[in-house]
Amino acid sequence: MLVFVLNAGSSSLKYQLINAETSELKASGIVERIGIDGVLKHVISENKKLTIEAYIPSHKEAIELILETLTHDETKTINSIDEIQAVGHRVAHGGEYFKESTLVTDKVIKKIEELIPLAPLHNPANILGMKICMELMPNVPNVAVFDTAFHQTMPEIHFLFPVPHEDYTEHHLRKYGFHGTSHNYVSKEAIKLLNNKKDSKIIVCHLGNGSSICAVRDGKSINTTMGLTPLGGLMMGTRSGDIDPGIIPYLMDKKGMDTHQIIDYLNKKSGILGVSGISSDLREIIGAANDGDQRAQVTIDMMCNRVKKYICSYSGLLGGADAICFTAGIGENSDLIREKVCENLDFMGIELDKEKNQIRTHGNREINKPTSKTKIFVIPTNEELVIARDTYNLVK
Ligand code: ADP
Repeated sequence: MLVFVLNAGSSSLKYQLINAETSELKASGIVERIGIDGVLKHVISENKKLTIEAYIPSHKEAIELILETLTHDETKTINSIDEIQAVGHRVAHGGEYFKESTLVTDKVIKKIEELIPLAPLHNPANILGMKICMELMPNVPNVAVFDTAFHQTMPEIHFLFPVPHEDYTEHHLRKYGFHGTSHNYVSKEAIKLLNNKKDSKIIVCHLGNGSSICAVRDGKSINTTMGLTPLGGLMMGTRSGDIDPGIIPYLMDKKGMDTHQIIDYLNKKSGILGVSGISSDLREIIGAANDGDQRAQVTIDMMCNRVKKYICSYSGLLGGADAICFTAGIGENSDLIREKVCENLDFMGIELDKEKNQIRTHGNREINKPTSKTKIFVIPTNEELVIARDTYNLVK
């Protein structure tokens, strides 16, 4: 079954065309700067890539352009859009209502609309993507796959915030967690690598521009670092992660900031970018640190310490860990970060093999010493494949 996987953002669209039965990736790409100017980058294979720069006024034109590119003579992956048998949508927030992926109906769209206050930037774009696909491909079923769903197994003691309880019951104030499809995929891959061990205890470190860690017991999320919003937890590219909440009124007073300015400050100006003053891209920070920039070094050390803090915390919670998994842009590619994170954790049975850590290969790999009680895995994430498989399972 050919599944078109769509991840719709406010000004960009990421997409993949996947054969869900064979996991074969047929084509992928991204449309950026929708409504500003517009560029489509389309990938058919390693050697066959295409960039189209054109004014793309809206998401509808963007999806039309993608579908045209998939069927156009020179860039053809399919003969007609009728070959697309289902569409899988990444949806940011499913609240407490969506505990798993679901077929999209009018009722489902209405529910996702009701959850907009919890994800004001993402859910509207996701809904737009669904409505456009339903219009352009009226006979094709759509499936919603939620970033929050995997974490719905978290127990109350981990999802409640220590604030007055009526704000949970009346205003849905609780930890939801994100990157659920990634944590789900990576933990399942790890369980396979552990020979399907029963009652497995796994810690997944998804370290990218956005980062989160998840404690997974027996395949189920029991705690994760992001909270009500994706701002909580680890220090990220531009997001602060956990801070003393007293900082907010202090800054509002000192700098005369309003709510929007505070949100912007913590979401877009903090984290790696804020501390380093250089960039949100970790590669640039590592480069600067190698050139002797002190603040870049502090940024790297702060980031790694926070990851380490949560690994230790979740190891305690799980009563030890069978495996620690690294995934996403930083987790998959940076041996330096993996080494720093694992440094001094031998006392807990976490022993990294520095040489294995430095070998760069595609696919899942084990990078711990043979004596290590805890396995250390690098597992490239594949959120789109999870979306395609969930879509297939619901549609078939
Ligand atoms: P997103 O959350 O946007 O999907 P990614 O998972 O692609 O982000 O991760 C992007 C991050 O990965 C960037 O900070 C980038 O610098 C970092 N990254 C990619 N390759 C490397 C590398 N070889 N070494 C260090 N960091 C890397």
